[in-house]
Amino acid sequence: MGARKFSWGSSDRKSAEQAGRGLLGKMGQRQAPASPATSSKDALLLLQNFEESGRGWFWSIDAEGRITYLSESICEKLGAERDALLGKEFVELFLKPDTSEDRQRTLPWVLMRQSKFDDLALQAADVEDEIWWAVSGRPYHHANGDFAGYRGSGADITEQRRASKDNDRLATYDPLTGLLNRHRMGKLLESTLSAFQLQRRACSIMLIDLDRFKQVNDTLGHPAGDALLKQVAERLIKVVGDREKVSRLGGDEFQIILQDEDDRGILGEMADKIIKSLSHPYSIDGSRCIIGASVGIAVSPFDGQSSEDLIRNADLALYAAKGGGRGRFRFYSSDLLQAAEDRRILEEDLRDALDRDEIWLSYQPVVNAQTNIVTGFEALIRWNHPERGNISPALFIPIAEETNQIGALGEWALRKACDDAAKWPGKMKVAVNVSPIQFANEALPKIIKEALSTSGLAPGRLELEITESVFLQDSDDTDSMFQRLKDIGVRLALDDFGTGYSSLGYLKTAPFDKIKIDQSFVRGATEPGSRNGAIISAIVALANALGMETTAEGIESLDQLDLVRELCVSHVQGYVYSQPVANDVLLEKCEEGKWEITPTGPAVQRSDRQTMYRKIGAIHDDHYYNIVLRNVSQSGALIEGIVDVPLGTKFVIDFGDGQLAVSSVVRSEGAQQGVEFEERLVNDGNGGLCTSRRVSPYMMAAAGVPMTSLPPGYYDDVERPSGKKGLPTFSTVSDWKAG
Ligand code: C2E
Ligand code: MG
Ligand code: MG
Repeated sequence: MGARKFSWGSSDRKSAEQAGRGLLGKMGQRQAPASPATSSKDALLLLQNFEESGRGWFWSIDAEGRITYLSESICEKLGAERDALLGKEFVELFLKPDTSEDRQRTLPWVLMRQSKFDDLALQAADVEDEIWWAVSGRPYHHANGDFAGYRGSGADITEQRRASKDNDRLATYDPLTGLLNRHRMGKLLESTLSAFQLQRRACSIMLIDLDRFKQVNDTLGHPAGDALLKQVAERLIKVVGDREKVSRLGGDEFQIILQDEDDRGILGEMADKIIKSLSHPYSIDGSRCIIGASVGIAVSPFDGQSSEDLIRNADLALYAAKGGGRGRFRFYSSDLLQAAEDRRILEEDLRDALDRDEIWLSYQPVVNAQTNIVTGFEALIRWNHPERGNISPALFIPIAEETNQIGALGEWALRKACDDAAKWPGKMKVAVNVSPIQFANEALPKIIKEALSTSGLAPGRLELEITESVFLQDSDDTDSMFQRLKDIGVRLALDDFGTGYSSLGYLKTAPFDKIKIDQSFVRGATEPGSRNGAIISAIVALANALGMETTAEGIESLDQLDLVRELCVSHVQGYVYSQPVANDVLLEKCEEGKWEITPTGPAVQRSDRQTMYRKIGAIHDDHYYNIVLRNVSQSGALIEGIVDVPLGTKFVIDFGDGQLAVSSVVRSEGAQQGVEFEERLVNDGNGGLCTSRRVSPYMMAAAGVPMTSLPPGYYDDVERPSGKKGLPTFSTVSDWKAG
């Protein structure tokens, strides 16, 4: 806002006239305007009018800085009598500035220089409210030229100061949560990174995205969403311990900046803490809601040195974390870039997949656990990609959900399943998976009715599989959708029970006909000491009491089948009976009107442990050996490829992407060695392990390698300043074969 001009507008004129009356009164008569003789009186009058209007005030001081004149209006503001102020030091009326930028132009400093000054912002001392003035002054001198003091004026700028402070706040903070905003965080990250690069320091960022926030917003309303975001901000500050390091980028996205932290063990632990903290239930206006969080982490200088690169890479990591099932953290690694590109291509290909007839349904039998007779089939969608072959729905359904394609795919599956099932012999049921996005669509009942009437399938033979995530919306809409579906006469099954929040609460209120117990839950039940068995019993008892069926999913071995039979689960679906089959196979098997299957499979569940085969490197002296990693734990690994290595030999194991682990051989037999790491590996957030530290690009730069992000791949590929590798101490399996 510019300084207001003194104008003779109508209201101003009125106040000026009023103000002038006293002076005119003293003069006794009205002056004729504008003769040179009266101009100084006019000027005096104008000044007085101005002074009395409260828009500005005048001051003068003597050579010692003591007040010799002060307008009445400022005396009032200061809450003091004019007489009490006269003779006081002028500088004492104002607070001393405390910020360094103002230090240059303090009042004592300008007065001492005896030079003129304009619009010095000064804050009133000894007053209750915050009052600011812009003060200007001109030195004046005695006839002999000696400095006599100052005369000047002041104007109230409290409002402007307040407005600009608010603007600063708006430019710095997110008004909802009070956290730094995107703009400010961007600047902070940029300045930190450029300073840290010179000082060879590390800096990490975490991007956090809330899972299922949109549902809260959509179902409980925006005010509830806002309240939730505030609570999220508080929890984040609590974990991070410093409010100025946390920002809200917008929506439900947050960013944390962590200076001097590149240890992935510590970063992973913090990410874990954040996810746990944000996943605790929230209470908002008496409603309880649960959300989750995913975290992507990138570390400078390893994963990027500019803020754009670092943020893009943290974003890729975040995306991978969400794709990995949400509620997880992921570190950036160079293969994520490739994965992102792959996904982009899949996303595009998926758009044409239906038109190109690449989508089809396979059917997996659902079998009565007591009689071994098939009672129905679950329709499982398949994508036969022209280059990649059959792609798992676990991979492309989430893509379809995110890219708005699930509606069309889901509707197609529903129609196709009804058409096929209508032609099956007998009364076998067909189960179709319904995504929560489809469930939230008002038009779902209409789509179902159409699929039923076009195919002629009886509603009681169609079962819709719904996952627990629809309950996170916890709203009247969910209840009314359930009711509308039940009114059509279709059956409802709760899918994947045991993987989500598994609250038995919904079972009592939602009108399910069946509970499908997830395969992970059953697998867990066969492990010693597991309580899953007891929980399954409880679920079965509850289901029986409520007249619901139960299906155990993913049963592969005979011991699992025995267990679920013992626990009185009514139906079983799994490889122990049959893999999903194409519709023509199904028709063949059911030719006689029914299909009875003898369960076959391994006696006991196969262990999940896999022996791995991953090519890695081992460095000894100055030589690089290409070896194979057979298994790895946090403290050590089994490696293969180098022959006859004495115990105690030190290797640096190269896991790729700058991950080097110093280790020593603790077991050695032929071409296999057990090595123990000097520093334990840490959780990589993706079910794997990684080193907590990596070779720093700073170190490589010092060794003459151009300073870029960490080169992907293995250390062997990095050009060394010496230009050559050393001679091998040990021979390798490939030498052996060659020899
Ligand atoms: P789901 O609904 O839980 O389906 C069961 C999954 O377990 C299927 O995987 C099935 O092939 C697999 N399975 C069955 N028996 C066994 C077993 O003994 N061992 C093992 N390891 N796996 C077994 P699939 O076909 O890959 O489908 C994955 C998920 O994709 C499904 O999980 C479902 O959530 C989703 N999906 C499949 N079709 C559709 C669809 O048409 N629409 C929607 N929205 N989602 C679908
Ligand atoms: Mg299912
Ligand atoms: Mg399932």
